[in-house]
Amino acid sequence: MTEISVKNIKGVGEKTAQYLEKLDIRTIKGLLKHYPVRYLEYKAPTKISEVNKDEEAVIKATIVKNISFTGQNRKISTTKITDYIDVIDVIWYNSPYLRATIKQGESYVFVGKFSKRSKSTLEHPIIYTLDEYEKKIGSFKPVYALTAGINNNAMEKLIKSGLEYIDEDDFAEYLPAFVLEKFSLESRLNSIKNIHNPLNTSCLFESKKRLAFDDFFRFLYGVKLLKNKRLKVKSKNIVAKSTEYLEEIKSVLPFKLTSSQDRVVDEILDDMSSGIVTNRLVQGDVGSGKTVIALISLYMAVKSGFQGVVMVPTEVLAKQHFKSMSGFLNRLKSPPRIGILTGSMTKKEHLLMYEKIESREIDILIGTHALLVENVKFKNLGLVVTDEQHRFGVRQRTTLSDKGENVHVLVMSATPIPRTLAIILYGDLDISTIESKPMGRLPVKNAVITENDREKAYRHILLEIKKGHQAYIICPMVEESENIEAENVLDYGKKIADKFSQNCKVEVLHGRMQQKEKDDIMSRYVNKEIDILVSTTVIEVGVDVPNATVIMVENAERFGLATLHQLRGRVGRSELQSYAIFVRTSSSNIAKKRLEIIGNSNDGFYIASRDLVLRGPGELFGLAQSGEPDFGIADIYNDNDIFEMAKEAVDMIQCEDIGYEENEKLEREINNYMDLHYKKLAL
Ligand code: ADP
Ligand code: MG
Repeated sequence: MTEISVKNIKGVGEKTAQYLEKLDIRTIKGLLKHYPVRYLEYKAPTKISEVNKDEEAVIKATIVKNISFTGQNRKISTTKITDYIDVIDVIWYNSPYLRATIKQGESYVFVGKFSKRSKSTLEHPIIYTLDEYEKKIGSFKPVYALTAGINNNAMEKLIKSGLEYIDEDDFAEYLPAFVLEKFSLESRLNSIKNIHNPLNTSCLFESKKRLAFDDFFRFLYGVKLLKNKRLKVKSKNIVAKSTEYLEEIKSVLPFKLTSSQDRVVDEILDDMSSGIVTNRLVQGDVGSGKTVIALISLYMAVKSGFQGVVMVPTEVLAKQHFKSMSGFLNRLKSPPRIGILTGSMTKKEHLLMYEKIESREIDILIGTHALLVENVKFKNLGLVVTDEQHRFGVRQRTTLSDKGENVHVLVMSATPIPRTLAIILYGDLDISTIESKPMGRLPVKNAVITENDREKAYRHILLEIKKGHQAYIICPMVEESENIEAENVLDYGKKIADKFSQNCKVEVLHGRMQQKEKDDIMSRYVNKEIDILVSTTVIEVGVDVPNATVIMVENAERFGLATLHQLRGRVGRSELQSYAIFVRTSSSNIAKKRLEIIGNSNDGFYIASRDLVLRGPGELFGLAQSGEPDFGIADIYNDNDIFEMAKEAVDMIQCEDIGYEENEKLEREINNYMDLHYKKLAL
């Protein structure tokens, strides 16, 4: 009966209903799912002299004086209380009802804080009768997220009333008995009741565990159902796993694949040749060699008669992929025809390219968001690769794969994420991980410096340039700004050019330049005609110039950890020793902490996990817009063990034969959940 409006609760009128709506609470069920954000423990009362003045006081005392009401509209009520050692003042606001509830000479328990103004005044404490409080000692008071118009006590009361509306059908058990037993799960109903009113720590723990388990379980079960559905689609899109073509494409590469790369290629080809629709995430740290995996997969798709497409987040990267892939492909006897489509091309060029794509004069297409427009129509699209996936939303991925039928999808990401989060973010994708970097790579050496050490850093850069290597210097801004105190590319470029004019060629690069200009500078940098590139983060992802061995990041604290790690990934791409210098220009603790993390570790996985803790996944992956699953109580950082339990339970249920009735209950619950959450996700 809890699916009904909160207005059915006695005492809840239009106004309260409106307040609740601000918290997204409409039904009684919604109200009951408004879980506490934390708890206060009901502690045993102490003497007045024992109270630590900054903490909440719990005092058993006797009223010495009748309450007096003063102030405008008699809004202030005061009295004195004593524990027979000390006497203190007590003050309440807007509480005329007190006159009827407390009496001189009686003892009560007072819970509240001492006034900041007067150290011997207890301010607006909650009052309990001795009996009432005695029963609560050791249990917890829930603290809720609130909105104007409803204070915590009111919320507590509302929820208490709401709980009375629960009947047999509400929060009914949907998990098979063997799962409840195996993972020692509390019942759902008790958990809902107890989470709002836990009698002790273990009861709180058990209810939290059960509710978090439900959050993860339903999500994972839904993901599994979707995956099973996908696996059942018998696709005609079969890319042959031909050893001949595989050897052929490998033979034009200037290096041998690492064993990690070989394994990942194998996993992809197994998928694509199996008659199911591939949906795979390839994750590998910056510089681990993902591009070539995309290239091989595309080539194999083309050899089976399909077109393939790669989407990247920036034009610089599109150009680079186009160049390097064409370079390799052109060494083949009959190279596939490769094309590029980006936003900066002219309308005419666009139209021409659309035509070529539709008529299949292009086999492999590389492009930016420009690929997503309706005019891009393929004749026979077989494979979509999204590079730097974390820069795109879920929907952009599907827009592209919807341009063909049963299209294989590979997404590549250099932002390594914990497995828990990978499943949460990418749902039913299979995951391939490139664990190792190509042989002979030396770890990048890091230095976090302050402005005082800049000259030293410049000397080091110069040393590298004298060895014939190249450098990047990154500034947060393009040009000077009145409001922001940070280095800008234009002024910095001039400064560095003056400083090093004898020894090297300096150029600047930033997002506001014309595309042609950017391309020109990038290709001169690749050709070693430029020694130092002073740039914004336009080069953040993907750019590959192995001869660059030093990167210096100005105002490093202004960048997120993931960005800093990506920037550092621009060096250390060959067998040469590389260096990353992070200039810290703020002495705030968070700046220090952040840069300490990046300075002490080259491990992208570790950095991503720290970043998650510092910033949360919403900001990190732009999840807010992409409709992430909503975990009510489960905590994706700290509830890993519960996540694993839920995962195990899902697998167990899929293997085990469960009875008709149990299955029925389970399916009903999961279907409801999917209806609510997966419409948004559209996996
Ligand atoms: P990322 O994973 O960051 O996309 P790239 O694909 O750009 O990495 O590869 C980084 C560099 O390593 C490129 O210059 C690429 O040519 C080179 N590379 C890739 N695989 C190998 C390999 N097996 N051996 C040597 N160099 C490799
Ligand atoms: Mg890359």
